[in-house]
Amino acid sequence: MNVPFFNYPRLIELHKEQYQRAFDDVTSRGAYILQKDLKAFEENIKKFLGVKHAIGVADGTNALLLGLMALDIKEGDEVIVPSHTFIASPASIALRGATPVLADMADDGMLCPEDVKRKITSKTKAIMPVQVNGRCCDMDSIMSIAKEHGLMVVEDAAQALGAKYKDTPAGTFGAFGTFSLYPAKTLGCFGDGGLLVTNDDDLAKKVLMLRDHGRSPETGEIEIWGTNSRLDNLQASFLNVRLQGYEEEINRRREIASRYNEAFKTLDDLILPPAPEADVHFDIYQNYELQSYSREALTTHLKEKGVGTLIQWSGKAIHQHKALGFDADYPKTNAFFEKCFMIPMSTLLTDDDVNHVIDSIKSFYN
Ligand SMILES: *Cc1c(COP(=O)(O)O)cnc(C)c1O
Repeated sequence: MNVPFFNYPRLIELHKEQYQRAFDDVTSRGAYILQKDLKAFEENIKKFLGVKHAIGVADGTNALLLGLMALDIKEGDEVIVPSHTFIASPASIALRGATPVLADMADDGMLCPEDVKRKITSKTKAIMPVQVNGRCCDMDSIMSIAKEHGLMVVEDAAQALGAKYKDTPAGTFGAFGTFSLYPAKTLGCFGDGGLLVTNDDDLAKKVLMLRDHGRSPETGEIEIWGTNSRLDNLQASFLNVRLQGYEEEINRRREIASRYNEAFKTLDDLILPPAPEADVHFDIYQNYELQSYSREALTTHLKEKGVGTLIQWSGKAIHQHKALGFDADYPKTNAFFEKCFMIPMSTLLTDDDVNHVIDSIKSFYN
């Protein structure tokens, strides 16, 4: 039996006929750029998150970049971001000419509020919490630190569409939040895609112009310098299809996470992610990431059993990319990256797949 880490060809099978119909519909209308399917998708997301504005953009990285641009984050500014994230989070800050200031993780693997506090200087403009693996950071602490120091919060929720912290959806805490629609993300399309959400009218207006060459959506006149960062209308039409079953998809992920947690809880070598029923968090399990003191041997064993694993972000925290020149120490993040890996987690998994993953891990310890 073979359970790849992510089964890309199977992605289309979820709703194949509906995708085919959407393709025929959009292409027969010749509706490729900024058309009604994109508008509909943005409306659907607004309803799903209860947020005032949702803007489809080229990808999750551009969503961050355009958001920071709209907030005028620039050279001389510092933005605090966890070292435990994808390169796109600090890159969006650096590409603005601003300085990404890295913070360590807390014991739960998420951005550490105490370390954020230590990293604040007179140049700090914003905090960028990253909702890694579809779980929110300790947003009460982060929001109160931001308030106390007059900082903006910009959320990289690329992995967390539908996650909640005390009933507030990821992406809606601060000035803006961003999501990725990359194929392997929880709401993936058939290529690149991204989203920015905000409750701020002025910010939304700027991002709408920035994604479309600085053109005002109302008048078509150029009002500012902009770029081309639009979500394809065709991708939006596919996303509208997938969004209809999205809540069930989240439930399925949570169910798989429950099964994994239950199956592995007696294995002392493993450190598991928090279980779905845990606490104030509603996690959507973009990834099921665990830690093992015998990672190398375990993942080799799983490979032999046909189970795909992946070490997130090529096994490196941001400060571990030598060329980027960070010199501070991040002990918790370092320790985490020595042991972390991910096992298959997606709605493309059958019950047989899940059983095979569980049996394969158990057989390593027997
Ligand atoms: C996927 C991801 C991004 C980037 O999204 P793209 O759509 O691939 O540009 C940014 N941040 C995090 C944490 C991600 O996981």
